[in-house]
Amino acid sequence: MIQTLAPDLSTAEISIFGPGVGECAVIHFGNGRWFIVDSCLSPESKKPIALEYLNSIGVDVATQVHGILVSHWHKDHIEGLYQLVKACEKAVVHASAALFDKEALQLASLYKKVPFNDTDKEIREFREVVEHLHNKKQHNRFDIVHAKHLFFEDRIINTRLVALSPSSVAVTQAIERIRELKPKEGGRRVHLVAPSSENLNAVAMHFSFGEFSAVLGSDLEYSDNVLVGWQAVLDSKISEHLSLGKAKVYKVAHHGSKSGHHLGIWEQLLEQRPQAITTPYANSYLPKSEDINRIISLASSFIVTRDPTPKSKIKHDPMTDRWLKKQIKNRHVINDKIGHAQIRITVDGEYQVEKSPICVEYREVG
Ligand SMILES: [Zn+2]
Repeated sequence: MIQTLAPDLSTAEISIFGPGVGECAVIHFGNGRWFIVDSCLSPESKKPIALEYLNSIGVDVATQVHGILVSHWHKDHIEGLYQLVKACEKAVVHASAALFDKEALQLASLYKKVPFNDTDKEIREFREVVEHLHNKKQHNRFDIVHAKHLFFEDRIINTRLVALSPSSVAVTQAIERIRELKPKEGGRRVHLVAPSSENLNAVAMHFSFGEFSAVLGSDLEYSDNVLVGWQAVLDSKISEHLSLGKAKVYKVAHHGSKSGHHLGIWEQLLEQRPQAITTPYANSYLPKSEDINRIISLASSFIVTRDPTPKSKIKHDPMTDRWLKKQIKNRHVINDKIGHAQIRITVDGEYQVEKSPICVEYREVG
């Protein structure tokens, strides 16, 4: 069962949320200090899941959230980000170096003048965040992330969160792509704001708490270009340089897809047969059955925060629909229908995984 009270001060936590499309994680470093990775909305309340969860367990987000990371600029990872930045007043906003580059900031300001449509969601959220911090004169809340970036460290309780990516080449390439996105002459705009290759610029992380370590893979992918993506993480020898412990828990990259897979990660950064967890990307039915088979051959167990297999949609009549909506409005606790895997870690490195009923768990048979 998901714990509904905040962890005690000496217990760390990683919670991973994935309602179907969308991903968000929250981390407790210990001593009431929290960190949020990405944002997605509750399908029912349309509020950021991270805010709902932290509020429901009694965390004061205005003072206790120390940082918010935008791992990369795709819609399924940024919805509700502006609300998060507003509510978590003290949090530093971390994002890939490419995004806070001059070109990206210019792009955000250009989009102010034109009406938005759905495909501009990413840049609108970005503009709102940039404008909010600008209006509040909080420019020091921006923080630029490269591989090896240290988000948090407490040497007394031995807690650390570091970035494994993006590589400097990935950042340069992303800035090049942002340049190409400038509105064309004659006012015609490029519709797809964040190119799919944005995943190579994603921020993957290593989290440690005492003897416990986890790798959070974001949507980082493998590329034939060894200077970017997972190969660049391995080639940088970051785990030796920073003496990173092998991870017991792995948030599998890119919704478990083949493009996010790299065997070297499993062999070099993770313990043998770690606990694997991912969020689905229901629009493309990720992870696919071949992905699940590949992952359970490497993991002790594989939790997907919601069943990724396609199903026909259940149709309610309008009356039932209205009734359901009303019920949902009256609920204050976080809904157990939201895909949620909750890991609580004690100082001796022991950890416990809880999951909401909507999660599915796979294991290798025999
Ligand atoms: Zn994604």
